[in-house]
Amino acid sequence: MDAFRVLVCDPISDSGLESLRKGGLDVSNDPTITPEELIKKIPDYEVIIVRSRTKVTEDVIAAGSKLKVIGRAGTGLDNIAVKVANTAGIKVINTPEASVEAVAELALGLMLSFARKITFATASMKGGEWLKWELMGSQLKGKTVGVIGLGRIGTRVSELCLAFGMKINAYDPYLSQEKKQLGGQRGVEMVELDTLLLNSDYVTLHLPLSPETRHLISAPSFSKMKKSACLINTSRGEIVDEKALLEAIKSESISGAALDVFEVEPPATRELIDLPSVICTPHIGSQTREVHQSAALILVEKIYETLSSGS
Ligand code: NAD
Repeated sequence: MDAFRVLVCDPISDSGLESLRKGGLDVSNDPTITPEELIKKIPDYEVIIVRSRTKVTEDVIAAGSKLKVIGRAGTGLDNIAVKVANTAGIKVINTPEASVEAVAELALGLMLSFARKITFATASMKGGEWLKWELMGSQLKGKTVGVIGLGRIGTRVSELCLAFGMKINAYDPYLSQEKKQLGGQRGVEMVELDTLLLNSDYVTLHLPLSPETRHLISAPSFSKMKKSACLINTSRGEIVDEKALLEAIKSESISGAALDVFEVEPPATRELIDLPSVICTPHIGSQTREVHQSAALILVEKIYETLSSGS
């Protein structure tokens, strides 16, 4: 039998490519392929691998008459027409487990930067200033962090925050009783969303984007939060109503935000990111060498499993 053909459309690690080839798959590495070239090439392949650059649209799926597997090295499936693929019997595989540590550590990094004004201090010193007395910060120990979404990343963030001596309030309406109990034993207090917003010094988002969660955090949420509170978003930009966030910070209803994700990426306007009490990073949650390595390897493993099970 001929080897399955794999088209790699975005950059993946060398070890990922090597492991695909070692397994006997026929790999074409084309990490700068254009949408037009993709439509022409895809009829020859059983497997396509992408990160976030390449869009696996309805047209690509329709042209991919041999396609069995769409592999996304990473988490978000926004660039893949998942429903169309499912209807066509094509498996869609991603690697959310690879990003957990990196995103959780970034959330903690943002929290520490906000608490100790690290980014502001750096910019002011590079600008020739020495603002020792003005740069009064606060410690994390003893503060309450509200974790919205207690899945893979939310759980890891909770563990890291517990190590810092923080109290944890968590809200996740879909968590199993078993996981709630386990969280309770570890010191995570499950609460309603309003209670979390009222109690928390830091509110950190770790839930998926869906029609239900779009703008889950909006003007009414900010009105419940502490004036000293900071919102941290490393999940998806559209979960937060950015206009309402801008207003909340400008009117000092909350004290600031640390954002890795935005409603539009890159942001179309600068008003929010120009605020001194907003720390921002350009969606770098998964941008670590470790994530890139492990995402590719986990994906390859899952592709083998799928192809060999014939499902
Ligand atoms: P996960 O599926 O393991 O956990 C998500 C949790 O959110 C689940 O426990 C689910 O029950 C809960 N949830 C769903 N709807 C909810 C609601 N309405 N209110 C409260 N909780 C709700 O997901 P994960 O791997 O931990 O990822 C979390 C988020 O991080 C996702 O939005 C993902 O896209 C994002 N992410 C961002 C980056 C980045 O680069 N910044 C990288 C990876 C993942």
